[in-house]
Amino acid sequence: MRRATLVLCLLVLSRPAIAQQGFTVGPVTAAAGTIAAGALTVAARGEDSGTTIPFTIINGASAGPVLALIAGTHGMEYVPIVALQRMRDRIDPRTLKGTVIMVHVANMPSFLGRTIYYSPVDGKNLNRVYPGKADGTISERIADTITREVIARATHVVDLHCGDGNESLRPYSYWITTGEPRIAQAGREMALAFGLEHIVVDRERPTDPAASMYTSNTAITRGKPALTTETGGIAIVDEPSIEMVQRGVAGLLKQLRMRTDGPLPVATPILFDRNEVVRAGQTGILYAEVEKGREVRKGARLARITDFHGKTIEEIRAPFDGHVLYVVSTPPITKGEPVAMIGAR
Ligand SMILES: [Zn+2]
Repeated sequence: MRRATLVLCLLVLSRPAIAQQGFTVGPVTAAAGTIAAGALTVAARGEDSGTTIPFTIINGASAGPVLALIAGTHGMEYVPIVALQRMRDRIDPRTLKGTVIMVHVANMPSFLGRTIYYSPVDGKNLNRVYPGKADGTISERIADTITREVIARATHVVDLHCGDGNESLRPYSYWITTGEPRIAQAGREMALAFGLEHIVVDRERPTDPAASMYTSNTAITRGKPALTTETGGIAIVDEPSIEMVQRGVAGLLKQLRMRTDGPLPVATPILFDRNEVVRAGQTGILYAEVEKGREVRKGARLARITDFHGKTIEEIRAPFDGHVLYVVSTPPITKGEPVAMIGAR
């Protein structure tokens, strides 16, 4: 009896404040205070041969939030993919509180196939098919796998984008305001912590968890704060954009109290309450006539589309006074596709 009491006392005394457990994603478990890596398998089905989703778990020595960082939702958005490669061994699990899950390339078919927007296998946009379908096409099965294996295990989610292979983009983040007020407020704090001054206020995401469409919104509709970020573009891997991602993640780790040090949040954000994606009315050759990050007046010409013999068939104009968040700056354009995004305060 006395001995049992002694053992119990020793157990209580030797236990840290909050014990951390091993953390499992798919086939991989990282013990407390360690890093482990592997891949999720999206099995073959019908005509497609399936794919893999490589990830790293950085499991802190003590318990805390679970921050999922997802890169490569769009396969030609390289900056976040390269930034996570660099950050794998720069977050020390021995001093980390909680767990970081890095998804290195969410959309492997699009990454290896070098496609913008759409999967080369099923023609779908991964960031429109969430929460996915276990018996669906490849993009739907990728979404289903990430929803179950990553988002379900996280407490906070960041979907790291940049301008796609055709988009010249100024850095900004999307703060999604739909969902519970508590979750929206936490999302705002994440946006400020990430450190990008320009923040698009997004009030129009679906609220049904079964039709969440977007990666971040899949987390939000499941009661988890989330953020979408945009840094870099047109398939260029540049140092300033990579550093923005690193700085952003460092800011989040501090704000979520997963690390003690880190950069301060944005003090004076520039919030874009009104936003519009301006789309092409014609198919042809696109000539951008404005640069990312510029202020434009209502009616200013943003781009021109010609037919394949050089005749102008459409002029794309700014719908209101605003800021050019991105502009498509490569020639191919198909009717209905985005040409530019304009934001106004
Ligand atoms: Zn994207």
